[in-house]
Amino acid sequence: ARPSPFLEPTSRTAPNTLAIISLSKEHYQPITLQESIGAVDGYAEGVTLNTRFGSFPHSTLLDIPWGSQVRASVVDTGSRGRKRRRDQVEDEETPTSNQDDGNDTTTSAPAKKAIAASSGFIYVLRPTPELWTSSLPHRTQVVYTPDYSYVLQRIRARPGTRIIEAGAGSGSFTHASARAVYSGYPGSDSDARGKVFSFEFHKPRFEKMDAEIKQHSLQGIVQVTHRDVYDEGFLINGKSPKASAVFLDLPAPWEALHHLARRKTLRGGKLDENPCDWESPLDPNKSAYVCTFSPCIEQVTRTVTELRTLGWTDIDMVEIAHRRFNVIRDRAGVNIPSEKGFSAQPADVAEAVKKLKSDLKRTQVFHKAQTSQLVSDTSESKMDVDESTSESNIGDSNKNEDPPWLQGRLVHRTENDLKTHTSYLVFAILPREWDEAAEEAALAKWPCGG
Ligand code: SAM
Repeated sequence: ARPSPFLEPTSRTAPNTLAIISLSKEHYQPITLQESIGAVDGYAEGVTLNTRFGSFPHSTLLDIPWGSQVRASVVDTGSRGRKRRRDQVEDEETPTSNQDDGNDTTTSAPAKKAIAASSGFIYVLRPTPELWTSSLPHRTQVVYTPDYSYVLQRIRARPGTRIIEAGAGSGSFTHASARAVYSGYPGSDSDARGKVFSFEFHKPRFEKMDAEIKQHSLQGIVQVTHRDVYDEGFLINGKSPKASAVFLDLPAPWEALHHLARRKTLRGGKLDENPCDWESPLDPNKSAYVCTFSPCIEQVTRTVTELRTLGWTDIDMVEIAHRRFNVIRDRAGVNIPSEKGFSAQPADVAEAVKKLKSDLKRTQVFHKAQTSQLVSDTSESKMDVDESTSESNIGDSNKNEDPPWLQGRLVHRTENDLKTHTSYLVFAILPREWDEAAEEAALAKWPCGG
């Protein structure tokens, strides 16, 4: 199998790989890059991504450094756009949470032409769990980056860790945890390799997840199982996954916790008298770290009761209230130095207009340079040239000769809406079991008790 783009990054885009297209600061769209299948009915561009920012033949997105800015096709795509809509290229129609930024079927034809003709551009980004979370097709509520980054460090996910996750849902947490536990040494003892054991009881969701994991070449590190974990627990073909970390994003996590014991236990903490050949899904040689993710405090209470009953320790609850601050220079209220010192009057309007005009000019020069290159040069070296052009132009436009006090007051604004799915995170630890044999083994390893 080829290496997963989430785990082993390459430096350039390639055919048949996932790319995350940044349409704007907040809007991302996942696509699978496709090699041009040649001219179809005179449409030489082949597979094309159509967005409200213009049309982007995949041929212009291939074999370029990840992170490149690509300008919209300069060809008038009006007629092709209509034809393509009939043909339905798959990735153009993939439903995403930012669909409103994708093909806009409600805009009038003249408006579309105007938009296509405008100087639209996109960025082609390498897939990461964070970008996948921002662009994945939502099948359920998902765990967002501020929550999963905290969860993963609290449950001690690191290269080599074996994690149990339920339910898999849309796979947001799954991708982040796969990267966290990936130890990158194929051929090593499979029990020592990091792995994510993911469980989902909703059949269509399970099937989608399973297919996605294969598409993203993560099947060596993520194993998705179709299972109701309340009833059937977490063993894989009757064998223990030997996990030391557990993440439960379930409506009733307390229903699943008794399966995560060291001895076969019934709900409420009573030991099963007839354990047969039951195995614990937990690694017997390590403490286990659990996190449950629940939106309501009543769910938290029931989870905590069950955790206490089952012997878990260090139980605590955290809520992540993530808020982003936009910090900008506000030129409108800039203090102007005068003979009498600094005045609090608004900035000189003429100066602001001058600055805007010069910014506009720089943008036009930059776009003109890029457009002429795109038209005249389709060779491999093109994007490298674009890149350097783009860098020098951007660098130039960012160059601000004014001293800081003339660049405007530093102001910050908070985002009004929280981008996280707010939930309560309950953490707990189940210590590893210790007996005389374990004590002797420990003493043999460290005879001085050190
Ligand atoms: N953590 C996921 C993510 O980041 O994309 C989202 C999980 S979603 C909120 C909860 C999932 O748990 C749903 O897909 C649901 O089908 C699944 N689920 C609910 N009860 C389950 C059970 N008893 N066994 C397995 N999965 C279950």
